[in-house]
Amino acid sequence: MAGQLREKVAVVTGGASGIGRATALRFATEGASIVIGDLDATRGEETTAAIRANGGSAIFVRTDTTSEADCDALADAAMQEFGRLDVCLAAAGISDATYVSGQESPGVEMLTTDESHVQNLASEQWEKVIDVNLKGVFLTDRAVSRQMIAAGNGGAIVNIASIAAKVPLPGAAPYCVSKAGVWMLTKVMAVELTPYDIRVNAIGPGFIETPMTATMAADETGLQMMLQMTPMNRLGQPEEIAATALFLASGEGSYFTGELLHPGGGMFHG
Ligand code: NAP
Repeated sequence: MAGQLREKVAVVTGGASGIGRATALRFATEGASIVIGDLDATRGEETTAAIRANGGSAIFVRTDTTSEADCDALADAAMQEFGRLDVCLAAAGISDATYVSGQESPGVEMLTTDESHVQNLASEQWEKVIDVNLKGVFLTDRAVSRQMIAAGNGGAIVNIASIAAKVPLPGAAPYCVSKAGVWMLTKVMAVELTPYDIRVNAIGPGFIETPMTATMAADETGLQMMLQMTPMNRLGQPEEIAATALFLASGEGSYFTGELLHPGGGMFHG
């Protein structure tokens, strides 16, 4: 299979849904063998089946990215199954402590009432989001970078942050802080890993049409709120984030490291 990731092997966390799934499919179309790490085995296996049906190679490894052992096993699986590990997309994430992908996602109330403001937030809610969105990316990046360093072939890591890394959203403090943390983790790792020819970048999307935004998008008030914050006046598609990830993961992005790109429909101008 020809393409920009020909003969490469890519680990994709959160690859069973939304942005991770679209990126796994796109990377496979570009020739990469894919290792999907996700909690949801049914949708994870469905994604690997879709890749194989299209002539690609893919395996699913059931992974909770908050588990050190799971992340290490995910990176090991890439080496054992395909003999190398060149690319990682760390997309596993949650919007708030109650969110489970594919089920009801947070509605506009999260951003428009003070129920989720810091003064009303339980520490468990804070810890859950930081655990998945920040520690999970750290554990994923650590596991894949160790394998990349040992193999000596360089590599590219792309972390999914959010526009919320820079834009304060009332009612979403743990999410914003976790994504700001991913941004800084990306920058520190980029400097640390240049001697190994490993580039580390992040993507900070605006509002993207995935299960994470589904409840808000289904509600007219929620939809209008997202559109008013987005100069292009539409939600982004997961495939548009996949295209950005491909740019950063492939040779096309060869002079980028420590960068945070914002496919956000003009939402953020800073
Ligand atoms: P999504 O469709 O809900 O996908 C998130 C995926 O992450 C799901 O497959 C979910 O698995 C998985 N996941 C959650 N916790 C996990 C864990 N502990 N271990 C392994 N996998 C886990 O949402 P999405 O919109 O594509 O989100 C992907 C990333 O983009 C997230 O980091 C999100 O914060 C970020 N983002 C999204 C938007 C947006 O507007 N959609 C904007 C900016 C940034 P399960 O299905 O098993 O729960």
